Amino acid sequence: MSYQKESTVYSGTVLQNKKIAAHTFHLQIQSNDFANMQYIGGFTLDIFLGNPFEEAFCQGRKYSFWNYEPVYHIADFAICTFSNGKGAEWIQKLQPGDPIFFKPPKGKLLVDNSAENYLLIGDITSLSHLYEIHRSLAVSKNIFTFIYAQQETDFFPDIDHSFPFNHHIINPVVTDTVVDTIISLLPRSLDNTIAYIFGHPEICIVLHNYLKHNKNLPIQNLRTKPFWKTKPNNL
Ligand SMILES: Cc1cc2nc3c(=O)[nH]c(=O)nc-3n(C[C@H](O)[C@H](O)[C@H](O)COP(=O)(O)OP(=O)(O)OC[C@H]3O[C@@H](n4cnc5c(N)ncnc54)[C@H](O)[C@@H]3O)c2cc1C
Repeated sequence: MSYQKESTVYSGTVLQNKKIAAHTFHLQIQSNDFANMQYIGGFTLDIFLGNPFEEAFCQGRKYSFWNYEPVYHIADFAICTFSNGKGAEWIQKLQPGDPIFFKPPKGKLLVDNSAENYLLIGDITSLSHLYEIHRSLAVSKNIFTFIYAQQETDFFPDIDHSFPFNHHIINPVVTDTVVDTIISLLPRSLDNTIAYIFGHPEICIVLHNYLKHNKNLPIQNLRTKPFWKTKPNNL
């Protein structure tokens, strides 16, 4: 993703950037520009990996709001380094006090309180997004959770230091193994259920198809989103 100079650019300041797990940094940003958004749990932010006023085609990456504090306009993000890509390199160099630039926040994978039952399924890259959805759901909801990772040191608690999700170490992360384990643990009835399925592209697609075809989950209740693109030779 690259942005042209003329599009709206918001800015803020890095308050904190701290390693919180083997492959994750906790980034905290303050920005008075956040006051312009009507925040809903599930928003994402397209952050420039540099200064778009100095670089003609400054690349960006999409990151999920982990938490938003509306009085002082402070937002939290959990940024992962599994990829060893540009975003992973950028986050490791970011220091408190650094300026940060981003597009107006928005979101498609928003919290939706209209169902009774929920499936929250994902990997470490999507964990902060799922935590935010979870905190935004009413306490009366029945929530099935399944977070998969290769090693225990990749897990991190929610922003309030709680561990509300069931997590599973699956090493290596093989699509069939992960999907079969999820299927074996799913609630028997999936009536009135919304499923948030994020993270690993192939796992997202296989699980999406299973829930759609084998469990007849209505398509509008399947909120599936691969969080990155698999390299063609990895498929
Ligand atoms: C809706 C949405 C929300 C997102 N929220 C977050 C978030 O909160 N935190 C976060 O860290 N990322 C999040 N992402 C992913 C993020 O936008 C980047 O695509 C990702 O972090 C990789 O960027 P990169 O520059 O580090 O690597 P790239 O240079 O983009 O990727 C290099 C290669 O690494 C592999 N790869 C990329 N990402 C991963 C990964 N996570 N695990 C394993 N392999 C990978 C791919 O094969 C890719 O070709 C989100 C994506 C979407 C679509």
